[in-house]
Amino acid sequence: MTASRPQPKPGILDIAAYVPGKSTAKGAKVHKLSSNESPIGSSQKAIEAYRAAAGALELYPDGAATQLRNAIAGRFGLKPESIVCGAGSDELLQLIAHAYLSPGDEAIYSQYGFLVYPIAIQSNGATPVVAPEIDFLAHVDAILARVTARTKIVFLANPNNPTGRYLPFSEVKRLHSGLPANVLLVLDAAYAEYVRHNDYEAGIELVATSDNVIMTRTYSKIFGLAALRLGWAYCPSHVADVLNRVRGPFNISAPAIAAGVAAISDQEFVERAVAHNEQWLPWMSGELSALGLDVTPSVGNFVLVHFPANETHHAHAADAFLQEHGFVVRRMDAYGLPNALRITIGTEEANHGLVACLKAFLT
Ligand SMILES: *Cc1c(COP(=O)(O)O)cnc(C)c1O
Repeated sequence: MTASRPQPKPGILDIAAYVPGKSTAKGAKVHKLSSNESPIGSSQKAIEAYRAAAGALELYPDGAATQLRNAIAGRFGLKPESIVCGAGSDELLQLIAHAYLSPGDEAIYSQYGFLVYPIAIQSNGATPVVAPEIDFLAHVDAILARVTARTKIVFLANPNNPTGRYLPFSEVKRLHSGLPANVLLVLDAAYAEYVRHNDYEAGIELVATSDNVIMTRTYSKIFGLAALRLGWAYCPSHVADVLNRVRGPFNISAPAIAAGVAAISDQEFVERAVAHNEQWLPWMSGELSALGLDVTPSVGNFVLVHFPANETHHAHAADAFLQEHGFVVRRMDAYGLPNALRITIGTEEANHGLVACLKAFLT
């Protein structure tokens, strides 16, 4: 049969498009708590470097992002050749799927895993395989039980968005040792800097000591540079070689490179961002629990909040009420959690305002 108009590859029309956090609501002042963005802005040094880059916009950037990879390598004690930069870690996740998945292949992610994974998997005609979680936490045995001869990639966000939970490094290692050597384990550590637990590791050691692990990181969260679209992957050299072949030759802009170099050395800013989260994450969790809401314990810069099972206090009603009052949060319907909302830790003013608003809603 000849189609009457151009048709995309098989699988593309099965994709549920990613729905980003809304950025508007009613009210004189809108607090956007829907996309896990930085409540304390960005590093002043990064902003200055970005502005300075405006003087040479006619020039292509360094396609190898050498300065940026050197700066990241220096900060974490890695080899620059093992780092590949992307326009956000989203681009890197897409490139990994693009390079390693063919139609008929399978890739596994966990039940409440980040929704970019199924999009990346289906974009390449591969089959997404979902491993159930227990108490909103990825379950190593459930993931391993779903590995078949067709499995090519396991995606694990650690900590995970939108649940905020994390697997201790011992569990990540157990997952890795249970995987066949030809399966890539992608550790998405977008929230690594927020975690204050001794049993957590982002995955650097595992990448360095194996041939099938990639760790991705982002500038969008703790560094507060989401607008620039900047992320990086630390990978075995054979994987870096593959990603460098498939990425766009100038995938990172010059202003993003400049800001990324400045931000990674601004330790004072990162410490301020961590301190803010350490103060307000427990506060927010405690206040929402005190309102009778069920809060999944989080180590990220957001909380997943579950609403009562009655109609008046349903998450959808709460979302509508919050929006009326200028608070934009994230609905979780796309994750199969229609009665939950994900709320980003905001400024002191936003946090207090949000809790007061939910209190009014519930009483
Ligand atoms: C925010 C986030 C990212 C980062 O995306 P960018 O493209 O770097 O902005 C990656 N993974 C998870 C789980 C996230 O929540």
